[in-house]
Amino acid sequence: MKVFKFLPLIGISLLCLSFKSISDKPKEGKKPNIVLILADDMGFGDLGITGSTEIKTPNIDALGEKGVFFNQGYVSSPVCSPSRAGLLTGRNQVTFGYDNNLPKNLSYTDGLPTEIKTIPEYLKPLGYTSGIIGKWHLGDGEEHHPKNRFDEYWSFPYGGHNYFKNGKATKKAQKAYASALESNYKTPQEITYLTDDIGDECADFIKRHKDEPFFLYASFNAPHAPLQALEEDIALYNHIKDPKRRTYAAMVHRLDLNVAKIIAMLEKHNLDDNTIIVFLSDNGGPIGNGSLNAPYSGKKGTLLEGGIHVPFMMKWSKHIPENIRYEQTISSLDLAATFVTAAGGKVNDVLDGVDLVPYVNGENKEAPHQQMTWKFTVSRSIRDGNWKLVTIPNHLPMLFDLSKDISEQNDLLFKEKEKAEKMIKQLGNWEVALPNPSYFEENKYKALQQKDYYKKYQLKQPSTL
Ligand code: CA
Repeated sequence: MKVFKFLPLIGISLLCLSFKSISDKPKEGKKPNIVLILADDMGFGDLGITGSTEIKTPNIDALGEKGVFFNQGYVSSPVCSPSRAGLLTGRNQVTFGYDNNLPKNLSYTDGLPTEIKTIPEYLKPLGYTSGIIGKWHLGDGEEHHPKNRFDEYWSFPYGGHNYFKNGKATKKAQKAYASALESNYKTPQEITYLTDDIGDECADFIKRHKDEPFFLYASFNAPHAPLQALEEDIALYNHIKDPKRRTYAAMVHRLDLNVAKIIAMLEKHNLDDNTIIVFLSDNGGPIGNGSLNAPYSGKKGTLLEGGIHVPFMMKWSKHIPENIRYEQTISSLDLAATFVTAAGGKVNDVLDGVDLVPYVNGENKEAPHQQMTWKFTVSRSIRDGNWKLVTIPNHLPMLFDLSKDISEQNDLLFKEKEKAEKMIKQLGNWEVALPNPSYFEENKYKALQQKDYYKKYQLKQPSTL
């Protein structure tokens, strides 16, 4: 009994150890600018650099080619809002009850707890000006507004938005998706095509703040629903037969052009060498929007690789060599620690991530994280080295060896019983120490998410022959 009683503590300390490698060494010279580019609901396999045979994304690809592409890059949740809560706070959001998307029955009145600090608030005392351009989705009430976190905002509060001024989203989402854009530095212009408008505002932010260290959160909503694209972009993908996939490809194409717009403005002002540029998606592709997570199974809302293993790259020419493929497991939770350290700050013990730079440039050859854990509605998961265990209700745990089975097709639960039992205990010990979630997903979503574990997924790119 005594041993059992202490197991949770052992589990927690192991995880803490795995997440802690604190660096407080400030970088020399001028403080870098930081541009965090977030795509929304992008499929893993929908970039050139991740193997797409259909969609061309040379500008996004170049970020990984001129810096590091993380082959094992994860987000902390398979859906938008909690993933963003983890990304911006540098803390696994389930440690403060932010497990789920904001439910509609709370009328979106809840949001990111005000006492939990975010990246711009860590950077502010280090001399940084911050701005959010685009999607917020961390609460639309007065106390949860991004104005309490960022110096500047040009944004919309909800989980999605029409791309055109009079764009027709689904009836249910229409009200939220037609919400007014908000800004504290201008009267927001009329929407032309939202991805272009977000790109324009990002470029303008860089231009206005070129003489001071800045943090730009370029929070694109592309290629999240509603599926709305410019005709000229759709025409480029006429060879794709499925109309949803064709429109989705056009939306990703336009996102790529606007990433180029951001890079061009950095280059114009000679800021590109000392700017950290990160690109990732907030979760995996939902498939229903025409996205493809190949070679991964699963989708948005699941803890299979297709839900949480995302395109993830970072360029910082001054400190990261070109063309690195980093093979160790890292997560979006590492970005807060990475940015704060790069800005010359000291990372506190509250953050769950580590500064990735010494790992990426070869100074530190250890694995940043031996273990990672996830919790989302009906599912739980733990990754330990290359082993990954996933649990859902009314189903035996699933165990995969990702070094041989990246598509999670070969369940090794019975072949590797001891390994599985150990991981089940570690996962349970982690979970019992967590607070209750502040709110739950609507039941219909929980039911859908459970069903998604039984589906067959497209694991290969379409042939171009
Ligand atoms: Ca999303």
